[in-house]
Amino acid sequence: MISPSIISKGLVARLGIKTYPLSLTYELSWRCNLACSYCDRHTPMRSELQREDIFKVLGEFHKLGMRITNLDGGEALLHRNIDEIVEWLVQRKITVTMHTNGMLIPNKLDTIRKLSGVKISLDGPRENHDAMRGAGSFDKALVGAKAAKSAGVPVAFTCTVGRHNIQTIDALIAMAEELDIPVIFNRP
Ligand code: SF4
Repeated sequence: MISPSIISKGLVARLGIKTYPLSLTYELSWRCNLACSYCDRHTPMRSELQREDIFKVLGEFHKLGMRITNLDGGEALLHRNIDEIVEWLVQRKITVTMHTNGMLIPNKLDTIRKLSGVKISLDGPRENHDAMRGAGSFDKALVGAKAAKSAGVPVAFTCTVGRHNIQTIDALIAMAEELDIPVIFNRP
């Protein structure tokens, strides 16, 4: 059950009377199972929080009124406490979404099922994606996307558009339509 004080903070923030952190994007770790050519978030930061501090911080945001948490990385599904973190948030009726490269989804379906949405990064069709992220990463991302969708979790692809993939956008849209999964395009 959501406490009345959290509901009232949400209301106050939505009415613009006072600001509260309703939505939190949390980069759990910069550890990643890929090393994409344009990314520097595949080596853990020295100052990453340990388990006890993670729950302390989440507890403080929860008390301040946090209603939505988007878990990100690095690769969020690689985090050693990910199952526990998602469960902790869901138990407090917080909407939890995740941004992932999708590769570990089939191994983590019990946790994935608890999410309100999963965003999976794609750089384009197989050739473009694998050129940036490594051989086999496209096929694994698609297996992950299909697994999450079959588990009933809303899935979207995200694609950062740049010179490396601008010419493949139409092909990516066609593929996403075939899979019945939307694509969100971002600027770098
Ligand atoms: S999967 Fe994401 S976090 Fe990992 S290296 Fe690639 S862009 Fe960076």
